[in-house]
Amino acid sequence: MIHFDNVGKSYSDGTEAVKALNLTIENGELMALIGPSGCGKTTTLKMINRLIEPTAGSIKIHNKDIREYNIHELRWNTGYVLQEIALFPHMTIEENITIVPEMRKWKKSDINHRVSELMEMVGLDPATFRKRQPDELSGGQQQRVGVIRALAADPDIILMDEPFSALDPITREQLQNDVRHLQKEIKKTIVFVTHDIDEAMALGDRVCLMKDGEIVQVDKPQQLILHP
Ligand code: ADP
Ligand code: ADP
Repeated sequence: MIHFDNVGKSYSDGTEAVKALNLTIENGELMALIGPSGCGKTTTLKMINRLIEPTAGSIKIHNKDIREYNIHELRWNTGYVLQEIALFPHMTIEENITIVPEMRKWKKSDINHRVSELMEMVGLDPATFRKRQPDELSGGQQQRVGVIRALAADPDIILMDEPFSALDPITREQLQNDVRHLQKEIKKTIVFVTHDIDEAMALGDRVCLMKDGEIVQVDKPQQLILHP
């Protein structure tokens, strides 16, 4: 469970990006954060793994303040998928996926098994793709690797910041299906930032609608009242 208690973030230039945010995201839930550009979605997301420090309030994961976790442990336990496809260009697909498991000193055989399992889960044949470089994959394939890399060390929480917005509509729909499937299968807590209302409605167990740094509404997609 991720619990925001009166969380605020003011940047050093005075911008109040997030104001007194109260929100609970349940274990295994996919929460879609939606709202216009600049409403505070990315700031909210990045506060969860302390890429951004709140300037007010507190955030708890599993009832423990995130400041009480070892920072590496917190980052390992919160897989992060960015909008830009951010694979390391000079590393193979396999090497990209295994960064965190290697850092965590998993056994070599466990890591190998994990790579195959994850690649198969998103339809990338390990025998074909394991040793390829990122630039030998399509954009959609690369972002699939981005998604499974975030899952590699089996984190409890996955943070996704407009992960599919750079992809063409068909690839995008395939990846949305992948995420839905992954979430059913592995029951992770996912916080998913998007400015696309259709994507939020299709993916979210609940949707959190933000405006000007504040929550307007949090509800199941079918209950959401859309403000023009
Ligand atoms: P802080 O105010 O928390 O110290 P930084 O100066 O470290 O933030 O900026 C973090 C990132 O956000 C930088 O890449 C910066 O270019 C970018 N950034 C700065 N100002 C803005 C803004 N007004 N809107 C969006 N991004 C910004
Ligand atoms: P969203 O993800 O919804 O587009 P952000 O969380 O990126 O919104 O930004 C919220 C507000 O904070 C915006 O007004 C943005 O310009 C501002 N902002 C974001 N990053 C910075 C920064 N590093 N420094 C100053 N202002 C920022």
